[in-house]
Amino acid sequence: MNLLLPRGHDLHVHFRSYDSKLFPNVIGYTARRFSSALVMPNTSPNPILTGADADAYRHAILKVADDQGITGFTPLMTIQITESTTPKTIADAHTSGVVAGKVYPLGVTTNSGNGLTIPSLMRKHDVWQAMADVGMVLCLHGERPFSANEFCLQAEVSFLPTLQWLSKTFCLLKIVMEHVTTAEAVEEVLRLPNVYATITAHHLRLTLNDVIGGNLDPHAFCKPVAKTPEDRNALLLAATCGSDKIFFGSDSAPHTIESKHLSGCAGIFSAPHALECLAEVFEDEGKLDNLPKFLTAGAPVYNLPASTETITLERKEQEVPKVLHQVRPYRAGETLRWKVV
Ligand SMILES: [Zn+2]
Repeated sequence: MNLLLPRGHDLHVHFRSYDSKLFPNVIGYTARRFSSALVMPNTSPNPILTGADADAYRHAILKVADDQGITGFTPLMTIQITESTTPKTIADAHTSGVVAGKVYPLGVTTNSGNGLTIPSLMRKHDVWQAMADVGMVLCLHGERPFSANEFCLQAEVSFLPTLQWLSKTFCLLKIVMEHVTTAEAVEEVLRLPNVYATITAHHLRLTLNDVIGGNLDPHAFCKPVAKTPEDRNALLLAATCGSDKIFFGSDSAPHTIESKHLSGCAGIFSAPHALECLAEVFEDEGKLDNLPKFLTAGAPVYNLPASTETITLERKEQEVPKVLHQVRPYRAGETLRWKVV
């Protein structure tokens, strides 16, 4: 039995800095399976902040794909919005083909030490308007920085008033809440007219139980962290229902086993088997027919052409390697029911 899927879009992926050892090793997993991917800008030590940065990064990504004989793959470039971003930064980036600006609230995830505080985000009217004017998408890591008196698991829900303000104030701005993890966030995304969301493969399966319910599992740790079974069930429903507003973004984010164990870095490396994992989830929900929609629903948001190529998954068991490129991939050592041909 084969499953024919569109060669769709992974609308949130980390390829890491182009001078890191991981960079040439991780791109192929995404580029072979998707016709385009939205490439996150929070590379370290040098983030992607301008159109010129994005141009150089795009060139390096395409060279790796070309060296590996991969064709038909388009990296969709982003810049990080920081305190120093201006309307001119946006106009120049747009000219360079950048399709989205990404906001990391200060300190909420990997490489976000240059992120925005909520007050500074709410002061950047001219930047959000400039993005709306040129049709650039605003991508949000939707967690509010928390103080010692606040609870970290509330960070996504605490961000929702900021999302509501952005949606209402800039009604022509297209906004994507990245990697939503809570039932409350899903509800807001579906309610607000100009807001969309990505959901990862791992958040469709994991809950906080997988991270801290037994022995601490650093390889199941990501930001935003997986939440309750009720939240996971809300994500499952939203992803598999065929919505126009909810689409796939893997947030595949490789960290070496050493950096996971020594520094507790947040991120899950799902790119090698993300499609197979999605097929399992949609099949278990009895919604395999809606998987093509989940892989392509983001196309209108980013003005992407309809997918014409296909990817075939075969009904064949495979074991996920325990280690790839010194990284423990998502579902390492487990047996999957599907395999990309
Ligand atoms: Zn991410």
